[in-house]
Order: sequence, then C-alpha cells, then structure tokens
Amino acid sequence: MRRIAVINQKGGVGKTTTTVNLAAALALAGKRVCVIDMDPQAHASTHLGVEPDGTIPSLYDVLVANKPLADVRRIVGDNLSLIPSDINLAAAEVELAGIVGREVILREAMAADEVRPTPPIGTRNAERGTRNEDPEPEGACDLPLRAPHSALGAPTGSSPYDYVLMDCGPSLGVLTLNALAAADEVFIPLQPHFLALHGLSKLLETTALVARRINPKLVVSGVVVCLYDAATKLAQEVVNDLSAFLEKSRGANVPWAKAKVFGTRIRRNIKLAECPSFGKSVFGYAPKSGGAADYAALANEVMGVTVPQVVGPLKLSVET
Ligand code: ADP
Ligand code: MG
Repeated sequence: MRRIAVINQKGGVGKTTTTVNLAAALALAGKRVCVIDMDPQAHASTHLGVEPDGTIPSLYDVLVANKPLADVRRIVGDNLSLIPSDINLAAAEVELAGIVGREVILREAMAADEVRPTPPIGTRNAERGTRNEDPEPEGACDLPLRAPHSALGAPTGSSPYDYVLMDCGPSLGVLTLNALAAADEVFIPLQPHFLALHGLSKLLETTALVARRINPKLVVSGVVVCLYDAATKLAQEVVNDLSAFLEKSRGANVPWAKAKVFGTRIRRNIKLAECPSFGKSVFGYAPKSGGAADYAALANEVMGVTVPQVVGPLKLSVET
C-alpha cells in the first residue's frame, strides 16, 4: 500500500484536482483506492459526489470522536472509497489543541483499520450496536461491492487498499500534520507562476520536522506541475529553478533528497475545472479530454499503471 499526502499550503494549486483524478485513474486501472478528504472545505468530497451538510459522518468523527474509519467511509465508485470531510473539521484544530499525540490520530485509526476484521455486509453496524442499521452509511451508492467489502466476514489482516490519497487543505496545521504522520510519501502540486516557489521551503521544513519527530519513513516523492501553460516562458523557468533546487539536495539527509519534478505536466484544461460541479472525475465527465489524458499519464509515470483508454461513463456520483 502507498499512502500519499497531497500537500501545499497555497490554495488553488491543484491539490484536490490531482487527488481526485489521480485516484480515479488508479481505480480505473483496477487499483483499490481510498481518498481521505483532510480539508474542512470538503472540495474532494463534493468532487466525488458527496455533499457534506454538517450532519454526515466525516473525518471529524474519526479525529475528534474516535470513530473507526469504517464507520465513516463510503463507496463512491468502483474500487474507490472516500472518507469525507465536513465543515466541522475546521474546529478540529482548536478541539484537538490540548490532546496529547493529536498529530498521530489518523495514523492510529489507519493502523486499526488495517487489522480490523471486516464484518459481513448488513451486520457490521448492528454488531457494534451502533444506531445505523444500513449496511453502508446513508448515501453510499449501489455499485458492485468490491474491496474492501469483498473480504466478507474474514479478518483481512492487511490493508484493503493499494493506495490511500490524502487531500490536504491550504495550511500546515494539525490536519495536514495528521496526513504527514500517516503518509509514506508526499506529492506537492504546484502552479508554476510568479512566487510559486515562495513558501516551498516552509513546506519542506515541515516534512523534515515530521520525519524527524514522528514519521521517519516520510519522503517527498515529487512535485506535480499543475495548471501548466506550455506557451509561457515563466512556467518553464519555475520548473527549471525547482529542478535545480532539488538537484542540490541529492544525497542530503532530508525527506526530499530523492524528490523530482514529475515529467508529466497537467495542462490547463477547462474540463478539469468543470467536472467537480458534476460530482465526477474527469474520466467520468470528459474521458477524451486533455485533462483525462494528463492524469492517466501521471498515473502511468508515477504508479506504473495503465488506465484503460476507452472508458465509459465512470459512475462517481452517490445515488440519492
Ligand atoms: P487546491 O486544492 O490546491 O486548492 P484545486 O485542485 O481546487 O486546488 O484547483 C483550484 C481551481 O483550479 C479549481 O477551480 C480547479 O477546478 C481548477 N483547476 C485545477 N487544475 C486545473 C487544470 N489543470 N486546468 C484547469 N483548471 C484547473
Ligand atoms: Mg483543495
């Protein structure tokens, strides 16, 4: 399993777009994927067709009320699950302020989830005597039930996912620290414009701090160049500056010693901007678009998977 935190404390650089569409590409390629929405703005949840209204079980319940991940998780597509966010999560920062070990709550919840027996569908909530008697949280769609639910009744003993992608919000606060503590690797989406590299050193220092204190295996795998406009010289200059900077860190004892600027550029593509409002990934909304091609290429470059070229409408919306 690869656990990837998608972070950049700047907003609007392509974190959510990258998380959702990379997750969809991997799911299409047959990998079992879970997206964790770490941003109180809940854009990834909306993008995946789940509209948080302040009442649905969310990551807030996991971090603040110690709910198991399984009680919050929803299936949002073939091979694709979501731990939704909710505006309540904005309060987590304050509510967790006095809690010892607040940065590792998600990591512990993930560890518990990995070894937890998956009860048969329809009994999992009743078994624990919780109020919800539905086999899945309300709103979950009626897609073919695959992993993690395929291991009916049997203890999985290992992770039900091949990939966990954590979409972080625009801050380096306790939510992002939880993602960094739970992750094996970090992807940094970056919009190559003036001042794009401003703030990057703070971000990298944070990964170093987390690696030193709570998660020694954390590495920064690479930078995803998003909203790329090949026609501008500035974009190329930013990429060159960044590559030169990373080159200088080779061999250093820092989490980004092996980081690279991924070769795939995510070009500016209107379909990528349009698809969130339909609650679909770009593969469901516009499978022949440049946006779909770029995220398929990124999944191929970084994960080595092949996304089927001809895809029907991938169902990514929750039935209501
Ligand atoms: P972040 O999560 O870092 O705040 P988003 O992924 O939400 O950034 O992207 C910011 C905005 O830009 C969104 O409206 C999104 O739809 C749009 N966007 C992101 N990537 C692209 C792209 N490659 N082409 C066009 N629009 C994009
Ligand atoms: Mg976002």
